[in-house]
Amino acid sequence: MHTVQEALETILSRAKPLGMERVELLESFGRILGQEIIADIDLPPFDNTAVDGYAVRSQDTAGASREIPVRLSVIDELSAGDKPMRIIGEGKSIKIMTGAPIPYGADAVVMVEDTERHGDMVSVYTALHPGGNIRHAAEEMSAGTVVLSPGIRIRPSEIALLAALGNSQPLVYKQPRAALFSTGDELVDVGAAAPPYGKIRDSNLPTLAALAAAAGAEILSMKRLPDSLPDTIALLRESSEMGADMIITAGGVSVGDRDYVRLALESLGRLELWKVAMKPGKPLAFGSIGRSLFLGLPGNPISVQVTFELFARPALWKQMGRSKLERPVVRARLADSLKHSTGRDEYVRAITIWNGAGYITRSTGAQGSSILSSMTLANSLLLFPADIPLLNAGDEAEVMMLE
Ligand code: AMP
Ligand code: MG
Repeated sequence: MHTVQEALETILSRAKPLGMERVELLESFGRILGQEIIADIDLPPFDNTAVDGYAVRSQDTAGASREIPVRLSVIDELSAGDKPMRIIGEGKSIKIMTGAPIPYGADAVVMVEDTERHGDMVSVYTALHPGGNIRHAAEEMSAGTVVLSPGIRIRPSEIALLAALGNSQPLVYKQPRAALFSTGDELVDVGAAAPPYGKIRDSNLPTLAALAAAAGAEILSMKRLPDSLPDTIALLRESSEMGADMIITAGGVSVGDRDYVRLALESLGRLELWKVAMKPGKPLAFGSIGRSLFLGLPGNPISVQVTFELFARPALWKQMGRSKLERPVVRARLADSLKHSTGRDEYVRAITIWNGAGYITRSTGAQGSSILSSMTLANSLLLFPADIPLLNAGDEAEVMMLE
């Protein structure tokens, strides 16, 4: 049996970024940036006002206060988008709106709240320093600065920067195409009324689809495999031939008489590892079929979710060019004690909260690998190492945050 770390290293060593494409700016949202972004212009591009008010010569406002205001004449108005046409001389000002360029001669802007207007004069109630309320050209960055690097996920804040710097078609990494399979003769459609005795609804296939979509993959196909070796071989081969970058199955990978996934993988491609010392999720198979990577996850619904999180998600992230593959890990104090005797690293579904001084974590309850609700309650996985039999309340443990 392999440790989780060994298995992850093997899987990540096989997962390779898939190449790049140019997409429209809005389509790049959620994708992984494939290029360096270099500022094409200064930001801001020109000196402009940060407030609505009056552009002034700061020396003209020296000593101004509520009691003894300075009176200036108002010679023009500038809105955002306007070009300054007049020069401010001694004793003069120009009314100005946020974002408008600073007119020649002015070196500060007094906020409208610190003024009172009388016809073509304005009383200024406060003294300004040179530069007051001005956003200077290139204050944020000058043209030529590298502002974003490849491998990051494009969030709304990156869209803002891409837009401001004129990237209407950024280069992004291609999304991996995932072929997803559930397995088992016991499965019936989700839409089926109460399943007949002995049958269960197929919850794994929609779960895999949601997990793959959340990871940023494109879903190439979703199919159910019967417990039959020839069918399993035929459908897995088909998905590889369709160009799947990653084939993910759930179930049928253990040692039961009707577990055919591993045999199918061995006959179609290459089995690189099987069985990982972890709980939940021991019977995990990894390999390749043609150009497709293959991950056979165990069938128990919680094993599906945990092994997807630990192995499939980072592998998909690597294929899609992400530079950081880890979830945030925090150290948290246990609210209750935990014990185990499995000899395997255990991933305990846990709810972890910040209590103002540190993180506190507790198990979400019964941890059987088929108990779906234990995962819906969780926001994290608590790592309970194989070599520690007991964690007491108050002990610290590592927790992987899932959201
Ligand atoms: P297996 O790994 O195929 O032996 O499946 C392990 C357990 O998970 C069995 O109890 C299965 O009935 C259950 N299971 C397998 N696939 C699914 C599925 N798609 N939806 C819900 N439960 C499943
Ligand atoms: Mg099965």
